[in-house]
Formats: sequence, C-alpha cells, structure tokens
Amino acid sequence: MQCLVCPSTELFVRKNFPQRLGVTIVVLGFALSCWAWYHHMVVATFAILMATALIDVLLFAFVGEILECYRCHAQYIGITGMDAHEGFDLEIHEKHRQQMARLSMAAEETGQPG
Ligand SMILES: [Zn+2]
Repeated sequence: MQCLVCPSTELFVRKNFPQRLGVTIVVLGFALSCWAWYHHMVVATFAILMATALIDVLLFAFVGEILECYRCHAQYIGITGMDAHEGFDLEIHEKHRQQMARLSMAAEETGQPG
C-alpha cells in the first residue's frame, strides 16, 4: 500500500505501545516495592515487582499495531493488509532520513537570494 500523505510506499508496522504509560508503571512499581522493602515486607516487595513486570508484558501483548510511514511518519490504525508490511528497518529509515536532509539542504540553497 502507499502512504496517503506522501508518495512513499515504504511503511513499517510497530506496536502502538504507550511508552510513557509503560515507564510510569515501572516507576510506580519500583517506588512501591522500595516502600514495601523499607517496611520489611519481603514477599510484598517481590509480588509488587512481579506484578509490575506482568502488567507491562500484558500491556505489550494486548496493544494494537500501527502502520507508520518512513518518509513523513504518518500513522495508520486498523488498515487491512497491514500484516504484509515488515517491522522497522533502520536501513530504510536512514535512507529516508538522508533523502529528507538532502531535500531540505537543496531548498535552502535555492531559497537564498543572489
Ligand atoms: Zn508518508
């Protein structure tokens, strides 16, 4: 499929994982386990750590996938044929990044007067 925003046909599939939420859960779990450890609740300490890890794993397993364009970073959710696309490829990403850098440099050169 082709990106709807730009002419690129190179898109990748990634997890729609709310990274900030994941970090928040880990930090909260760690703080809670420290509190439990301080109060000599050894079992609770490890239970909290285990639960935190479990929540993160479950979250990762149940979040949906999104399709993202390498070129303009447009994101698509619930598109049919998404499975046909590969995961993130650094080589393709780098190719597009350099292309964009060249384009913006060329635009600057032509934009200058004289
Ligand atoms: Zn695009």
